[in-house]
Amino acid sequence: MSTRASSPAVSISQAIAAGLAPDGGLYVPEKLPTLDPAAFDPHGSLAHTAATLLAPFFAGDALAYELPAICAEAFTFDAPLRPLPAHPGTLMLELFHGPTSAFKDFGARFLAACLRRLPRADARPLTILVATSGDTGAAVAAAFHRQPNVRVVILYPDGLVSPRQAHQLGCFGDNITALRVAGRFDDCQRMVKVALNDAALQAEVPMSSANSISLGRLLPQMSYYAHAALGWWREHGTLLNFIVPTGNLGNAMACLWAREMGLPIGEVRLACNANATLPDYFSGHDYQPREAVATLANAMDVGAPSNFERLRWTFPDETKLRHLLHAHCVDDDSIRQTITSHAHEHGEVFCPHTATAMHELDRLRAAGDASAWAVVATAHAAKFESVVEPLTGRPVAIPTALSAMLGRPAEAESIAASDKALRARLLLDRVER
Ligand SMILES: *Cc1c(COP(=O)(O)O)cnc(C)c1O
Repeated sequence: MSTRASSPAVSISQAIAAGLAPDGGLYVPEKLPTLDPAAFDPHGSLAHTAATLLAPFFAGDALAYELPAICAEAFTFDAPLRPLPAHPGTLMLELFHGPTSAFKDFGARFLAACLRRLPRADARPLTILVATSGDTGAAVAAAFHRQPNVRVVILYPDGLVSPRQAHQLGCFGDNITALRVAGRFDDCQRMVKVALNDAALQAEVPMSSANSISLGRLLPQMSYYAHAALGWWREHGTLLNFIVPTGNLGNAMACLWAREMGLPIGEVRLACNANATLPDYFSGHDYQPREAVATLANAMDVGAPSNFERLRWTFPDETKLRHLLHAHCVDDDSIRQTITSHAHEHGEVFCPHTATAMHELDRLRAAGDASAWAVVATAHAAKFESVVEPLTGRPVAIPTALSAMLGRPAEAESIAASDKALRARLLLDRVER
């Protein structure tokens, strides 16, 4: 069903295929299922945990029977929970071992594996539009690259993504088109939204989206929290706490849903960059969306977190919600200082997003907190070497998949930040076919 509850309830397949609900709300399950931690196979892989965790959401659906295969196809890499030797009780949940070195790979690959299996009435190619502040676009491109009858059009703000992010976005070719927009991320998002809502354009060019509000991206993200927390609980018999670097609240929402479902997750804290919408809300102010400001943790430059509506749906009692969650801002100076001090003192290297979460933990430790915390590492530092290397004074080793992408030529078309320009560009593809 939709968070606004004025659209008809749909099956999970339909919700995944549609992305956004027709009333403009976000799809949510009618009720979050609960699971006994003992129901999970203690020796199961991440894909196995995912299949058990997600089964209740798919019960009775056309994709139910395929769910284990979808999980096996999507989760071909691990999400290890790695203890930091220099800091007892501190663990890193590493979510950057996928093809594009950021956590977006989990959601994008699961969504692609679902869409591949869903029948479409239209025989024409489906165009997937995606606006990205850097990491989503590459993950979606990698997940759909060379998939028959699908084309992906990525819009990113020219000059506002890291050089390596830009290279990744432009290196696929084939059925992937990268458009560098002379504007900001908000422009890219607006252009995608206007195009998707343009009925005449839809009739010519069938389109769908793959943005972070899709249930097909949110649900699979619960899997790594479940897997890590279950492993910890079996070994130590205690709950695991998480600090999640947050922008649109997609990754954090998944953690909270997993906790609501009964997984052994303790406290959840949100680490934000200088964009203070959530920290202000959790410190007692009214919810006040605003324009995003640019920071070193660019994938979290969000002033109006798109999953906020899901958070409110999940926790209707505002007073309880404010007790349940904490959110803090980490400014660019603190991000720099965290990257520098951890590298120099302990040889640990973090991407700017991960550094916001580590900064929050450093703050807790300084205040005397000695409990076990998992810091969620959302991207590999090598993706943000232009920020990280000048601070650490050392090159960051590049993961194999990223280095293969950087070795390929990259190309992006420039486009004005205008809805008309995108419309014309999309129609051009149709003429060429
Ligand atoms: C997308 C992204 C985030 C923010 O995730 P949300 O789900 O939008 O909160 C954090 N870090 C990195 C590296 C990202 O790509």
